[in-house]
Amino acid sequence: MATIDETHDAALRSWVASANGHVDFPIQNLPLGVFSRAGEAARGGIAIGEMILDLAALAASGLLAGDALEAARAASGETLNPLLALGAGPRRALRRRVSALLAEGAAERPQVELLLAAMADATLHLPARIADYTDFYVGIHHATNIGKLFRPDNPLLPNYKHVPIGYHGRASTVRASGAPVIRPNGQTKAPDAQAPSFGPIARLDYELELGVWMAQGNRLGQPIPIGEALDHVAGLSLLNDWSARDVQAWEYQPLGPFLAKNFLTTVSPWIVTMEALAPFRIAQPPRPEGDPQPLPYLWNEADQREGALSLDLEVGLSTAQMRKEGLAARRLSQGPASNMYWTIAQMVTHHASNGCEMNPGDLLGTGTISGPEDGSQGSLMEITRAGREAVTLPTGETRTFLQDGDELMLSGRFVAAGAVSIGFGPCTGVVQAAPALA
Ligand code: CA
Repeated sequence: MATIDETHDAALRSWVASANGHVDFPIQNLPLGVFSRAGEAARGGIAIGEMILDLAALAASGLLAGDALEAARAASGETLNPLLALGAGPRRALRRRVSALLAEGAAERPQVELLLAAMADATLHLPARIADYTDFYVGIHHATNIGKLFRPDNPLLPNYKHVPIGYHGRASTVRASGAPVIRPNGQTKAPDAQAPSFGPIARLDYELELGVWMAQGNRLGQPIPIGEALDHVAGLSLLNDWSARDVQAWEYQPLGPFLAKNFLTTVSPWIVTMEALAPFRIAQPPRPEGDPQPLPYLWNEADQREGALSLDLEVGLSTAQMRKEGLAARRLSQGPASNMYWTIAQMVTHHASNGCEMNPGDLLGTGTISGPEDGSQGSLMEITRAGREAVTLPTGETRTFLQDGDELMLSGRFVAAGAVSIGFGPCTGVVQAAPALA
């Protein structure tokens, strides 16, 4: 379990002026990512305010020793997989040393200043080479809302409260924030249509999720006990599981999501480490009276005590017309991440419970996180009740699903009494027209 130490001290300030009061990246955060500047190779970095600390340069600077040096060396290449494979010890050593180097009054400031790059000059990449991506379905209000659209009297299927439901997604189409969202062409069939047709999909949606980045993995055939599950998690990001609802409705039976989900997944490019979010761990909400007790392999008292997160999530939409008129994004939803029926540890343990091999840099999505009430739903499918109730925007435009030119933004903010709030940075995408059909 990650513990609170001097790196979380709310009084701690950085000599990097933009870090103090930064909405996402104050010195208490120090998230891990991969960046490049024009003409340079990609390498690991740590966000601090509007700057990035170059980990390849730091590793070569002579300012590190021991585990921290090992960690920075492992983060010097174009992916963080080698660093993630080291697990929590070296990651924590690097965090503590970097925190000291960036703190106000650090004697090493003149040397460290030379290792900073402006975020504005950098391109951010995926933090890891993702071999496997799995998407869960732990947002119980989302599962209930979607279930109701199909089965008003019986929204949750009988397995939901016994099994963290998931499916294997597509790793090759995960991209960092800002990647264009190219409207896919797809095969759809309206319920009243005689036959299916192929063309630009009409019901383009988003899904507000968290991404879970795996640290050291397990060997094939070796499960991960729930008490050790979080030792295998490096940290979190935001994740948008772009979805083609009209394709989904036609293709999903009997084997589940396929082309409706695999055309793009967007993540915020910084991994907010398990160490950074130690002050924001809260108790998993108790299961409602009458819900089944999970099987022993999924149950751990410590995980129930602090396996959820004090994290507020928000979604904004900005159309091309709104941006032209200089209008701010319209908030589509806002709600807490505690609307997850299963914890991250339960997801990891269940995934590996049959001996499935997990690897450093593997990505897990939580599933859409929705609240129970209007204003807190994490997809347009829920907000518009499957397209029946349009959202009106400040320009007078309306939306049931996303149109070309729309920009969708996810954001998240960890909040706890006595702690400096931290966030993920942006997770955005602008919708582009579908490719012309041959
Ligand atoms: Ca999803």
